[in-house]
Amino acid sequence: MPDDRPEVPLPIQREVRQRCAFGCVLCGCPLYEYHHMEQFADVREHLAENLTLLCDSHHKQATNGLLPPDTITSANNSPFNVAHGVSSPFGLHFHGSEFQVVIGGNRFSCSSKTPDHSLITMPITIDDLDLLGVRSDADGRVFLHVNIFDEYNLPLLIINDNTLIYRTKIWDIAFVGKTLTIREASRKFLIEITFQPPNQILIDRARLLLNGVEIVVRKSHIFIVNSETLIVGNTVHNCSAGLQIGRNDRQLSAAFGPDPTSVIRYNLPRPDARKREVAAIARAKELSLKYGGESHDFVNPT
Ligand SMILES: [Zn+2]
Repeated sequence: MPDDRPEVPLPIQREVRQRCAFGCVLCGCPLYEYHHMEQFADVREHLAENLTLLCDSHHKQATNGLLPPDTITSANNSPFNVAHGVSSPFGLHFHGSEFQVVIGGNRFSCSSKTPDHSLITMPITIDDLDLLGVRSDADGRVFLHVNIFDEYNLPLLIINDNTLIYRTKIWDIAFVGKTLTIREASRKFLIEITFQPPNQILIDRARLLLNGVEIVVRKSHIFIVNSETLIVGNTVHNCSAGLQIGRNDRQLSAAFGPDPTSVIRYNLPRPDARKREVAAIARAKELSLKYGGESHDFVNPT
């Protein structure tokens, strides 16, 4: 790219992502580049209507002249992901004898004790459904499972055995570098997840929802809105479940499980949920002052 070419402005990038349904217009791949259908050298400006999304392979074919411009135009007019409603499957790669999931500054890790002993841990599970889970096979391959829903239990992001798919009717999805970010609206994060192969993932922001339970994740803490439970600065190793809420037919032993009677099942309006979180953080700060506990830098709700 010539040095004098400015970056595509972020609002234009988002407009193009939304129009192309967050994937290569030809194959739906979630990893893509912004491609000028009429060359930038000719138009000398970034216009949303002249930009489209192409994956690495299709972008290379386009720049090498192997992909006719009218094929790209027609895919741009009818993007792959718009027709399918979901992104095309994308494979992640993990392996090893240990794995760590860092959620809101809390570490959930597991390691195999013997070569044939598989890794297994469910950092967050609600009603026997693993919102986050990790398991491995005897060959040391590690498989990540993620299930992210909206308030109506509609799955928006699924990672099943390392294969990632997302629904494309959502405000914004961006997969930049190793970080996948899904936003429900401007400044409203549903999840920000960073994949760090071979054996770690990091979640600094999330709103995890299922069956009327809401768990808020910020860089400094996890907060269960329903039970007003604040989880801060923990390290949990080799527990079959990290945070377990609701039905537990598998009888997982969990590091954290709020009293089921305190988990009232409905999603509060966002401002009320935030008020609960602000109050819980204030209480935690008061208690640490009173008892001389370690002070903690909380990321405040926005
Ligand atoms: Zn492609």
